[in-house]
Amino acid sequence: MPAKTFPDGEIVMGRWPGGHLYYEVQVTSYNQNTQLYTVKYKDGTELNLKENDIKPMSFFKPKRSSSRSNSRPRSRSRSRSPARTQTPKHSNSRDRESRKQVENELVQKENLSKPVYQVQENYTNNKTTYVTDYPDEKEKNKSIYRRFEHKTCKEVVTDQLDPCNPQAKREEAKFVHLNAKDGHLYVKKQVVQIQEQGFGTRVGAAFMIFLLPATLILLMLMCEQKDPSILSFPPQIPALQTLWNGTALGIFVLWFLFQALLYLLPIGKVVDGVLLANGKTLKYRINAFYAFLMCAMAVGVALYKDVNLSYIHDYLRQLAVSAMMFAFVFSIYLYVRSWRVPADELAPEGNSGSFVYDFFIGRELNPRIRNFDLKYFCELRPGLMGWVVINLGLLFAEMKVQNRDVPSLAMILVNSFQLLYVLDALWNEAAILTTMDIVHEGFGYMLAFGNLVWVPFVYSLQAFYLVNHPNELSWPLALAIIALNTVGYIIFRAANSQKNAFRRDPHDPKLAHLKTIPTATGKSLIVSGWWGIVRHPNYLGDLIMALAWSLPCGFNHILPYFYIIYFTCLLIHREARDEHQCRKKYGVAWNKYRQLVPYRIVPYIY
Ligand code: NDP
Repeated sequence: MPAKTFPDGEIVMGRWPGGHLYYEVQVTSYNQNTQLYTVKYKDGTELNLKENDIKPMSFFKPKRSSSRSNSRPRSRSRSRSPARTQTPKHSNSRDRESRKQVENELVQKENLSKPVYQVQENYTNNKTTYVTDYPDEKEKNKSIYRRFEHKTCKEVVTDQLDPCNPQAKREEAKFVHLNAKDGHLYVKKQVVQIQEQGFGTRVGAAFMIFLLPATLILLMLMCEQKDPSILSFPPQIPALQTLWNGTALGIFVLWFLFQALLYLLPIGKVVDGVLLANGKTLKYRINAFYAFLMCAMAVGVALYKDVNLSYIHDYLRQLAVSAMMFAFVFSIYLYVRSWRVPADELAPEGNSGSFVYDFFIGRELNPRIRNFDLKYFCELRPGLMGWVVINLGLLFAEMKVQNRDVPSLAMILVNSFQLLYVLDALWNEAAILTTMDIVHEGFGYMLAFGNLVWVPFVYSLQAFYLVNHPNELSWPLALAIIALNTVGYIIFRAANSQKNAFRRDPHDPKLAHLKTIPTATGKSLIVSGWWGIVRHPNYLGDLIMALAWSLPCGFNHILPYFYIIYFTCLLIHREARDEHQCRKKYGVAWNKYRQLVPYRIVPYIY
């Protein structure tokens, strides 16, 4: 059994779980079985840490002032890390001062010992990591960076622990060869081995791979039934040949390629994504809204040429199966290509070593063919715009099936609400760059299926339902539903915009009225305004809208309410995952936020 290195009572530096900051802690005990140390932070928090998350006080030596330093500060032009190619615009002494102030404020507020060093890990293609000195533009609000001189160290293993469940092992990145060169720390990343988490075991992932398509097929079959009540569940299993149609597959592939072509058009500005965990930022072209306008023109021309859009309704099942097949093959491609990319381009969660789990969650974070970002492309374009076109096809199908000259009010509301939602997402395309999907999630079956199949075919369920199950809405009820959707949209948009604006520029005078709390990372958290009502006001708005989309279908069946039921589960789960990430990122500051804003999504309820 390995002997313990740190005796009880010793004051050492303990890494904050999940982060890069080290705080002064006291070792209180050591468990031989788990090989974990229990350490006490200055605010009284007790956590279990692995030995590799503990460093002796002598490990850290503050940077000497430049006048005394033997090593020349590394100039930006000498930087070998791709992440450091950008010239910082604001990384001046005032910024450093303000970061220091934020840090001190938090230290005073939370009574923690001061975090001493943040190790910023940037990777190059040969997987060498550099500890950088000062933050560049992207990182200016992120943390305090200091270069420190360090002689040698055989091995460093970082292991992220959940403060609430310190035993839970999830991520293990192994670095070897820490050498001192030019006063910088050089670390070679050798192994990345991550344990499964989030969506459970490989059995859960395998189950989901089949459950998702099966659920969609079931929903569609239910929708096609005359009586789609739960009592007539399960619907009749259709003949296999009714699921397959070569033309439908061709149409889906053409649609995908058409969208890819629009994405490649050199119109719209190119913006930087957020700083990724590997220290890189990627560039993204913002032209989804233009792409939508061109699609709208193409659909207009098709209608003018008497193309029968109700074909979409007649072959919806075959189109859905085609999309499933495409998503499956596409996910295999994504999985196979992920084995060729450097370790630092893999998503932390999708690298468990289990084929099924990694295939489902997605291994590669941002798979690209040259500048063509496959995940970013799929997030907003083929699926989201496909959803609008399917809704339109169902609107024409309703007129045909019900022999109407004009669509029903219910169908118009469903189409309009969902069109507004899609237009909003496309108009605010850049906002997607900060979402969990782009920043943290690998691109695998889960997202490919979600974007290409689930969104267009499940989200259009209300319109599909209305084709065969008319619901005549009275004007007062319609107005009440429009009001509900408007309220939901205002909350959703205002909350998202407030956070986006704050994350883009926390010093924006327009946001000066907001109360915030600092965090040890240098970023602050909004604790008033929309984000002071609940911790996820944007989810609340989204859920209110989801209800407004279902209400036009009436109350005869639960089927059109599938979306809001599923979406509630999704957002509760997503909120829990985000909460977990934020607790890791922000530690005590997040706990403070939880105290100030106790409700997650619905005020006084949840
Ligand atoms: P959010 O946009 O809510 O982003 C969460 C992040 O916001 C946190 O990780 C944190 O990141 C930051 N944050 C949290 N609290 C605060 C605060 N008080 N002050 C400042 N920053 C804070 O999450 P999503 O990406 O999940 O959702 C984006 C939108 O997309 C939502 O409106 C959601 O409803 C919608 N959505 C729709 C789906 C659909 O199928 N229709 C599916 C999923 C989402 P950091 O601090 O690092 O900036």
